[in-house]
Amino acid sequence: MPEKKMTNSPWQTALTQLDNVSKIIALPDDVHQLLRNFERILTVSVPIRMDNGSMRIFSGFRMQHNSARGPYKGGVRYHPELTLDDLKALAMEMTWKCSLVGVPFGGAKGGVICNPKALSRGELERLTRRYTYAIMPIIGIEKDIPAPDVNTNEQIMAWMMDTYSMNNGYCTPGIVTGKPVNIGGSLGRTDATGLGITFTIGNAIKRARMNFKCLKVAIQGYGNVGSTVGRLLYEMGCKIVAVSSSKGGVYNHKGLDHNVLMKYYKENGSFERFPHAAGITNESLLELPCDVLVPAALGNQITKENAGKVKAKIIIEGANGPTTPEADQVLTERKIPVIPDILANAGGVIVSYFEWVQDVQSYFWCEKEVNTKLKDLLDRSYGEVLHLSQEKRVNLRTAAMILAVKKVADAILVRGLYP
Ligand code: NAD
Repeated sequence: MPEKKMTNSPWQTALTQLDNVSKIIALPDDVHQLLRNFERILTVSVPIRMDNGSMRIFSGFRMQHNSARGPYKGGVRYHPELTLDDLKALAMEMTWKCSLVGVPFGGAKGGVICNPKALSRGELERLTRRYTYAIMPIIGIEKDIPAPDVNTNEQIMAWMMDTYSMNNGYCTPGIVTGKPVNIGGSLGRTDATGLGITFTIGNAIKRARMNFKCLKVAIQGYGNVGSTVGRLLYEMGCKIVAVSSSKGGVYNHKGLDHNVLMKYYKENGSFERFPHAAGITNESLLELPCDVLVPAALGNQITKENAGKVKAKIIIEGANGPTTPEADQVLTERKIPVIPDILANAGGVIVSYFEWVQDVQSYFWCEKEVNTKLKDLLDRSYGEVLHLSQEKRVNLRTAAMILAVKKVADAILVRGLYP
C-alpha cells in the first residue's frame, strides 16, 4: 500500500505536531527520533471465503507506535480507503492520548481495507476472525489491546475476543475493550467517548461564560461518537442545528430533534431527503453559524481553505485529527479555541482502560462509578492543559502535546535504550 505524499496527509500532520513540540520542550534528538519511528508495523493477508464460494484476500495491519508507558492500545478500523498513513497517524495519536490523560498504555492502531457495508454478516465475521488470528502473535492482555473504531463495534470485538480465546485455550476477556457487557465489557463504554466530549464541552463553555441551555451545536458525522454527543446534548437542552453522515447532512437553525434524526438515519442509512431541514454538504456544515462545532467523522476536515470561514465559537474535536496544522494556526489567530482530539475524545480510551482493569481483576463496577472516574480524569486533564496553555501562551493543542510527549519521553529516558 503506497504512503500518501501530500503535505496534509494525517501522518505528515502528526509528524509536524511532534516536531513542533519537540522544539518547544528541547527534546533530546535520540528521543525525538525514537518517537518519529514505530516499534512495530505488521501487514497481514486476510483471505476469506465469500458467500458465493469464491475466495477474496483483504489487507490488514497492526501498527504499534510506542510502549514506553505500557501495553499498546488502539482501535481497529474497517474502511475501503484506509491507508498506512492514516493508521500511523492514529497510532501515534493514541500514544499521546494515553499519556495526556494518565492511562498506562502506549499507542497502536489497526485495520482492514474493506467496505464492511458491502459484506454480509457472515463475511464480516470471517474477516474479523481471520484478521484477529493473523495479528495474534503481537496482541495480548499485557501486549496490545485492540478496541472499536470507525465501522467496527462491540459485535466485532466479541468475535475478536472469541477468536483469541479459542486459540489461547481459555476465555480471555481482557484481550479487547469495547466488548458487550455480558462477556466482560464495561458499563458506560458505549457512551464513553461521547460522554467525555460533553464533559469537555461543559468545561470549555464554562470558560467562555456560556451554558448548555440553547447552545447551538453542529456535529459532523453521526455515528457512535457524534450521535452520542447529539443525544446527550439534546437531553441537556442544547439546540442540535446540524448533523451529517458520509452522504451529507441537514441544517435547521431552530434545532433538530435527536430522536427523529436517529429514527430516520436508522431507517434510511443517511439524512438525504430528511424532512423539515435543509440539505447541506459536509463541507458547508463546518462553516455554519453555531456556538460549538464537533467534527466527529474523519481526519483532515478543517483545513487552511475553510478555517477562515468557520463561524463556531468553540471547536471540540470528536474525530481523530480533524484539523490540519495550517488550519490550527488560522483558528488560533482568529481566537477560536480548539479542544484537541487527544483531550476531547479521550473518554473512549479512558473507559477502555477501566474495562481492561475490570477484566484483569474479574471485578466489575457500576456505571456511576465508571462515569465519575471518567469525569475526574477528564476534568483534571482539561485543567492541566488549560493551565499550561495560559502559562506558556500556546494554544490548547500545543499545551496538550507538550504534556503528553514529555511524559512519554521521560519514560523512554528512565528506561534507557535496550540492550
Ligand atoms: P462511526 O463509524 O460510528 O461513525 C462515523 C460517522 O462519520 C458516520 O456517521 C459516517 O457516516 C460519518 N462519515 C464517514 N465519512 C464521512 C465523511 N467523509 N464526511 C462526513 N461524515 C462522514 O465511527 P465513530 O466510532 O463514531 O468514530 C468517529 C471518529 O471519532 C473517528 O475519527 C474515530 O477515530 C474517532 N474516535 C472514536 C472513538 C470511539 O470510541 N468510537 C474514540 C475516539 C475517537
